[in-house]
Amino acid sequence: SATGLLTVLNDILDFSKIDAGYLELTALSFDLADVVHGVSTLLAPQAEAKGVHIYCKWEPDTPSLLVGDEGRMRQIILNLAGNAVKFTKHGHVSIETKCLKREAGRAQIQVRVSDTGIGIAQAAQTRLFQKFMQADGSTTRRFGGTGLGLAISKSLVEMMGGQIGVESQPGVGSTFWFTLWLPIQMQDAPLPRSVLTA
Ligand code: ADP
Repeated sequence: SATGLLTVLNDILDFSKIDAGYLELTALSFDLADVVHGVSTLLAPQAEAKGVHIYCKWEPDTPSLLVGDEGRMRQIILNLAGNAVKFTKHGHVSIETKCLKREAGRAQIQVRVSDTGIGIAQAAQTRLFQKFMQADGSTTRRFGGTGLGLAISKSLVEMMGGQIGVESQPGVGSTFWFTLWLPIQMQDAPLPRSVLTA
């Protein structure tokens, strides 16, 4: 109960901060692969307890040493993957990271969180990113939550200049994705040709 209450409080505080325009993002060096693995390690006990397998897929040539707000990146991925585990009874949850484009010291990164869970009806998909909205808002709903997580994730992704979206089929599963341009840390850039041939 305490953990649940803390989540509600943190969500409300975050949302008020975003609404008031007081949320500031940091731009520091971080390792995205560490963040993704950290989230899956954190959720693994909860997933495995239900017999749901959680795994990460890292596409080759995706830079990992990036510059951005590590804590907020973790918060977005944890929200999407936490939902995926919550709404999945059988099967798996995957967190896939890839690089869509790369240019002049920055990369367009996409993180896709897929599940084989209950899925979301087409009509509900558009309103999920609005605050306090849940796909099934009935009082007999089996799952807890505030309906704020996705609204917060959308605001954070947009503050970082990115996009977030969902593809889903009821009874089959869902994929929540977000795409962001992030600077690549200097040491993660390809070695200059002179060094490679030396
Ligand atoms: P919360 O999970 O706290 O209710 P969110 O904003 O994170 O709030 O999610 C809003 C709603 O979107 C959820 O209540 C649920 O109805 C739906 N949803 C989110 N992720 C999934 C998912 N992976 N599978 C099915 N439904 C989902």
